[in-house]
Amino acid sequence: MRCYAELSYYLSEERRQRDFSVALRDATNVARLIDRLGIPTSAIEVVLVNGASSGLDRELKEGDRVSLYPMFESVDVSSLLRLRTQPLRSMRFVADAHLGRLARYLRLLGFDTLFENDPGDDALAQISAHEGRILLSRDRDLLARRIVTHGLWIPSVRPREQLVYLVERLELFGLFRPFTRCTVCNGLLSKVAKAAPDLPLPPRVRVAFDSFWRCDICRRVYWQGSHYHRLRAFVDQLGAGRGEADRG
Ligand SMILES: [Zn+2]
Repeated sequence: MRCYAELSYYLSEERRQRDFSVALRDATNVARLIDRLGIPTSAIEVVLVNGASSGLDRELKEGDRVSLYPMFESVDVSSLLRLRTQPLRSMRFVADAHLGRLARYLRLLGFDTLFENDPGDDALAQISAHEGRILLSRDRDLLARRIVTHGLWIPSVRPREQLVYLVERLELFGLFRPFTRCTVCNGLLSKVAKAAPDLPLPPRVRVAFDSFWRCDICRRVYWQGSHYHRLRAFVDQLGAGRGEADRG
């Protein structure tokens, strides 16, 4: 068994943040197992049994691996969501002033991520609450504010470690939409014709590349240069190191 995020609060200390075993004395299903753990089913959005999305009536046998996710933790609604028909949240973020590089990585993966250099704690909390964005922060006091219902504390100070942590913690793998969003301003990218006369391209780039994208907001132009390939390799590597719950 493993219970993620807020579901830990229902468990005894030694079962939090780690795998644990539950002996099945009799035939049982997911609903009865959850009841035995003392977790209200209303707190659970996604159940995975051996990595596959399951309903509460799924029968269990010895050796099955069960992962429970609270509403906040459910992610890939297309493949995982079973208990509720409507997704209760989207994977949109607002990052605090210390997480600029992380914000750019998230945009690179296609996630709608707000970031400003110095918005102030009040503004961050308000944006998170009113826009339904998950607040990413290294500041526990900020995340503890009553108004912040969706927040994630980021343990590392290194941007790539932060990204790996976030992707694994929220199981974002199936949600990557790389290179659909401007890493500088969070705007969406649109494909543009190479021949577009207003494309501000260096001559060698115009010769070497065929596909271009432009940010709908800041008009920055992107192409798949060497920087793209390094980032793409990093993204693919992230996707390859998928978490346990995704296997099986
Ligand atoms: Zn832009």
